[in-house]
Amino acid sequence: MKKKIPNLTLETPVQYIKGVGPKLGEILGKRGIKTVLDLLENYPRTYEDRRFGVTIAQLQYDQLVSLKAQIIKIQGISLGRTQRKIYDITLKDATGVIHCKFFRIPYKGYFERFKLFQEIRVVGKVINYRGNKEFHHPDLRDMDPEEELQDEIIPIYIEMDGVSSSKWQKIIDSIFLDIYKDPQFLKYDKIPYLVREKNSLIGYTEALKKIHRPPKNEFRLFLESKSESHRRLIFEEFFFLEVFLASKKLGLKKEQSLPIILYEEMKKKILQNLPFQLTQGQRQALAEVQDDFLTGHPMHRLVQGDVGCGKTLVAFLSCAIVAENQLQSCLMVPTEILAEQHFKNAQKYLLPAGLRIEILSGKTKNSERKEILEKLARGEIDLLIGTHALIEDDVIFQKLAFVVIDEQHRFGVNQRLRLKQKGPAPHFLIMTATPIPRTLAMTAFGDLDISIINELPPGRAPIQTRVAFQNKRQQALDFLQEQIKKGRQGYMVFPLVEESEKLDLKNATDEYERLKIQYPGIRWALLHGKMKSSEKEEIMNQFRNHQFDVLVSTTVIEVGVDVPNANIMMIEHSERFGLSQLHQLRGRVGRGEHKSFCILLMGYAVSPEAKERVMFMESTTDGFKLAEFDLELRGPGEYLGTKQSGLIGFKIADIVKNQDLLLQARQSAFEILVADPELKFPDNHFIKEYVNKKRNADLG
Ligand code: ADP
Ligand code: MG
Repeated sequence: MKKKIPNLTLETPVQYIKGVGPKLGEILGKRGIKTVLDLLENYPRTYEDRRFGVTIAQLQYDQLVSLKAQIIKIQGISLGRTQRKIYDITLKDATGVIHCKFFRIPYKGYFERFKLFQEIRVVGKVINYRGNKEFHHPDLRDMDPEEELQDEIIPIYIEMDGVSSSKWQKIIDSIFLDIYKDPQFLKYDKIPYLVREKNSLIGYTEALKKIHRPPKNEFRLFLESKSESHRRLIFEEFFFLEVFLASKKLGLKKEQSLPIILYEEMKKKILQNLPFQLTQGQRQALAEVQDDFLTGHPMHRLVQGDVGCGKTLVAFLSCAIVAENQLQSCLMVPTEILAEQHFKNAQKYLLPAGLRIEILSGKTKNSERKEILEKLARGEIDLLIGTHALIEDDVIFQKLAFVVIDEQHRFGVNQRLRLKQKGPAPHFLIMTATPIPRTLAMTAFGDLDISIINELPPGRAPIQTRVAFQNKRQQALDFLQEQIKKGRQGYMVFPLVEESEKLDLKNATDEYERLKIQYPGIRWALLHGKMKSSEKEEIMNQFRNHQFDVLVSTTVIEVGVDVPNANIMMIEHSERFGLSQLHQLRGRVGRGEHKSFCILLMGYAVSPEAKERVMFMESTTDGFKLAEFDLELRGPGEYLGTKQSGLIGFKIADIVKNQDLLLQARQSAFEILVADPELKFPDNHFIKEYVNKKRNADLG
């Protein structure tokens, strides 16, 4: 007896779809595509208009195209003595020749099916391979005479694990043929009616259908991602993220924190001892923290401010207020070097006011650690500074009321949560020196309140930035030497620790050895991530005490290091870094009264985009401008820790291009949550479902 295949609904598992089956179903499942709905939400990457042909001569890099051509060569090239082979299929049309390369075989017998001089259609992305246009792993299809006759608009899907674009097309077609038999389908819409109305959004199923099969007369709009279908689906992605963030943010209002009163005694003492005045930005940020303390509900606040703007002091002053309430604070930082530095500063600023401070890191001796933990549990420590070591289970506070996290992009959400559990709804202050563009802050940190410190303390000498190509390297080094002779110090940063065969990068270790010989008059030091932390700390201290002149290092110095006498920063292979990272590195200088310099070295063989990006560093020291520019060029990955980047794994939305929709979606999301905090209205049941699912995932 034949197995009865159920009619499709949006929840039907993918393997029941015609043309999928259990094997492909499993592959798709691994990619998170489990149901018909998941499949339909795998939107086309772009569209192809068959009414206008593309020729090989017209191809542009990074273009996703579909092209008719003839096979003129099929070649399997063995790689050394291994079994592995690269396949190279050469295609030609009337205007030129192009290679299609395959570094793995899509499936057994794949290449055997092609014949010489056969006409085929290739769908894929044009790659720039050492200056040549090529296809890598394109989708090669036999010509389907029927299909070729139609002047059609063809959706192009990203190929995955042997599922070619044309296969996608067929699967989607077969879904649409069947799904209309499901009476629920046309009604399906997760966005409440009023929100659709207010934002003039078309219905979900209409948008889905059209995104996969755009109507001919609207083709341009689809190609430019500006159709009503796009608007609707992009809005939806933003909307649900914002709903989640809104529910988190409003949820905090239900939690009770330990009461904090604003005693001013300790704070005044600290301020009196400072050799400078707080900047307006610092005062403002502190005032916002104080207001949050008074609400009785946990603060979740992000302090954004450029490197050197003095965020630490804002945190310290807040800790003093907490200590005066007989409550405890902790400050978590990503590296031991930074923990040490904060500890030193805390002793300088806070000890005189009577705060009891300790440091806990991976290298704290066992006996010491035991003692610290005991004191902590007895409430004899006011501020505990440390690395990840703080989140260990046996670190138990007597009354933790306030958590500060420095350089937050280095930490994941889970680490935040584990600290949260160490006290009754503690207040959180999260500090970042990475200026985050507004739209990104709204998507990634939309549940946080934000304070911005947008001024540096007065009297900082500006940093002069220059890009230098390799032929100017010698000159740059001589300049460095001059500065050292004047009594200054400098940094030299490399992108990698060890020699990599593939990337011909100078490595810090080799270069350090070479420089020592070339400039024996300079006291060089080497610092990299593979060293023991005690070694790193020793070197850092010696550098701070001016026992070394130049610190050759990898990016371990990126975060927060503060040596005011250092005024020159040289960065090798600057094209390998993102702008915000370069900006962070540059921020290591310009911290004292001396004029400071940043020299960005670059190889010749870098892409025009990379060159443009690095050159942009010359034009501004405004971290926000750099961040906006970087976001447009490189996308949001740069700003988020790996763990958070999943948060904005949008399928179709783009936070740079679709800012307007993001704002609208955020507005609507917050309105709904304010009006219906428990999400009890029937209209909001999809939202409730989504929030619960997401919250479980977040905690899990
Ligand atoms: P960041 O915001 O990058 O973490 P820091 O907190 O490390 O900056 O501060 C950078 C330097 O500026 C420190 O040496 C600190 O003592 C100093 N500083 C902080 N606030 C002021 C101020 N209002 N005036 C002058 N110097 C300040
Ligand atoms: Mg800092």
